[in-house]
Amino acid sequence: MMHSKLLEWYKNYGRHELPWRNTDNIYHIYLSEIMLQQTQVSRVRDEFYPNFLEKFPTLKALADAKEEDVLAAWSGLGYYSRARNLHKTAKLTHKNFPTEYEELLQLPGIGSYTASAVCSFGYHQNVVVIDTNIKRVLKRFYALPNPSDKELADKAQKLLNHKEPRAHNLALMDLGSLICIPKEPSCESCPLRESCQGKSEPELYSKTKKTQYESMDLFYGIWIQEGKIALTQSEGSMYKNMLTLPSIDPIEENYITSFKHAYTKYRLTVKLYHGNELPQQKLFWKSFEELPTLPISSLTKKALKLL
Ligand code: SF4
Repeated sequence: MMHSKLLEWYKNYGRHELPWRNTDNIYHIYLSEIMLQQTQVSRVRDEFYPNFLEKFPTLKALADAKEEDVLAAWSGLGYYSRARNLHKTAKLTHKNFPTEYEELLQLPGIGSYTASAVCSFGYHQNVVVIDTNIKRVLKRFYALPNPSDKELADKAQKLLNHKEPRAHNLALMDLGSLICIPKEPSCESCPLRESCQGKSEPELYSKTKKTQYESMDLFYGIWIQEGKIALTQSEGSMYKNMLTLPSIDPIEENYITSFKHAYTKYRLTVKLYHGNELPQQKLFWKSFEELPTLPISSLTKKALKLL
């Protein structure tokens, strides 16, 4: 009964318009899962997903692409290791994308969530999927304030609709996103309300750990010659292999401006300076016209806009 109510709700109110839900193309489904890991659904749907697929319509096209072109297409999404892993996975699997959970787990950038999402949404397998939305629904439905991952997986398994596992998982995901939201869930409209054990105090089951942010100052030099700006290739874990402004030791009288930027757990203060002597790093002199086609991080884009 509860399963049919959930599926009925999903039929009427689910987010069926999402393009990766209307395809069996495993590459498209896998790509959407990677993009959705840290990016809002609406931005992925309207911007990044269609643009990326226009550039790399197949897994083979992605496998054959240069890494700099993949990073350029990923620009604005952040967390660039996702793009590098996507590219590596395309090279390994473009002839034969794995169909089994355990095999998927062996691929770069695919963890247990993505592997189960690909198995459920791509291959309609009888597996549970637990993202943050589903986790919240499960915690409330079973009144579990601090469940372990194992407890949650057991509960998800218990609740799974084995006849329609894919639709069931998608329904729970949408329920968490639209009804069983973090603050003030709409329990009166919820298809699970009759059996929900946490509905009288839903706020008890929605606490999440606060992210710890780290502050950091970054200093970049600006060199412009004959209409071209000096860029360098980042070697650190932040923006690895992307083009950035050269980092420098700051000289106060050369200060131009500064701005704030958020990158993963970092809260950055970025300061820009007129360049003095050319730095030792290998430089790439790029005209302003070609910048939009290059693998440039959003931080560097922001700096270039300010200039
Ligand atoms: S009844 Fe309320 S708390 Fe329970 S699953 Fe539905 S929306 Fe969430």
